[in-house]
Amino acid sequence: MSAWEEIDEWGPEKILQVYDPDTCMKGVLVIDNTSTGPGKGGIRFADSVTPIEVFRLARTMTWKCAAAGLPFGGAKSGIIADPNKVDRVAWMKSFAKMIKPYCPSQYIAATDIGTTELDMAIFAHEIGDMRACTGKPAELGGIPHELGTTGYGVTTALETAIEVLEESHTLHITKKQAKVCVQGFGNVGSFTARFLDSAGIKVVAISDVSGFIYNKDGLNIPRLMTDMKGKARLSELKGSIYDINDKDGIFEVDSDIFIPAAVGDVITDRTASKLLKNRVKIIVEAANLPTSPSASEYLHKNNVWIIPDFIANAGGVIGSFVEYQGRTEKEAFELIRYKIVKGVRNVLAESIMREENPRTFATEMSKQIVYRAMLLRKGAINVAREAYARLDKISV
Ligand code: GLU
Repeated sequence: MSAWEEIDEWGPEKILQVYDPDTCMKGVLVIDNTSTGPGKGGIRFADSVTPIEVFRLARTMTWKCAAAGLPFGGAKSGIIADPNKVDRVAWMKSFAKMIKPYCPSQYIAATDIGTTELDMAIFAHEIGDMRACTGKPAELGGIPHELGTTGYGVTTALETAIEVLEESHTLHITKKQAKVCVQGFGNVGSFTARFLDSAGIKVVAISDVSGFIYNKDGLNIPRLMTDMKGKARLSELKGSIYDINDKDGIFEVDSDIFIPAAVGDVITDRTASKLLKNRVKIIVEAANLPTSPSASEYLHKNNVWIIPDFIANAGGVIGSFVEYQGRTEKEAFELIRYKIVKGVRNVLAESIMREENPRTFATEMSKQIVYRAMLLRKGAINVAREAYARLDKISV
């Protein structure tokens, strides 16, 4: 299946597949929609990357940037290899060279799964423009995603969801009682666990590709962080105080809140019924596209509140925007809190009122914003005026 088959009224505007015979680097860039600004989105570096996946992630960025009110459109790119098995510097340089004509006018990169602030330094230098990407090291004026911007936003999203559900008498869980499972222990999952712990929220289980650890009374997160120093995988903790279980066991844990914080497509019909059996009541999508549409509907019908990825995990791109403006790390965290609280409040309150899946309202809201921007780009002022009136009705 080709990414062209995904074309609809929103995009994608460009699909670029590149190959460099000198390094054997293969990569993909999808610029989905630039009506609200240059396409923004990270570079995923993994052997599983496909053009369809990059397109789906680019579309998620379109809705994410619109919902957060950022002057960016949606895009994403991918380099197809395990970064630990190739010459990652040569491949990153080669990818940058290939997509240079689009950066930063139509595409502004950032980190994603498999890339770090160091890759961003290489990318920006190769393009010869520091505005070609965000998530750069501090020495280059960057606000690295490794500061935990996404995890901070995810924690804020969860705290806000608990408050709104309580205020509307929809669900009663206090921050103190809540038991949380975090699936994934990379940049997003590990920071989410840390920020949850600082917010006084109990993390009972954490998993990564190698296994999962569990403590029904709550894991000691600061201790875990110390124990993980110099280790790449949870399984390396074997033989210490931790029992390492099979990674899929995380779906069997009794908990109130489940946070998928790794790759996509993990909450399927099968895992959704397990989550329901374990009495999960809130899912915060820290990963992009973790839930299949049918699992999302099934969970919603069974009273599970899902905070959609493009609302819950926008902390990273909000931080990127602050970097892009040349502002500080402190301002990044402040803006993340402000925008995530506003976004989650708005989406949840409307969804409770309309009795619909939060993803449905959130997508409708983002579509309205992008639609209006597309009309303005076309110069269709009168139609745009009508669209403004309609947009006001859904209170963005
Ligand atoms: N990779 C992050 C995301 O999926 C950040 C993207 C960005 O800052 O451009 O949201």
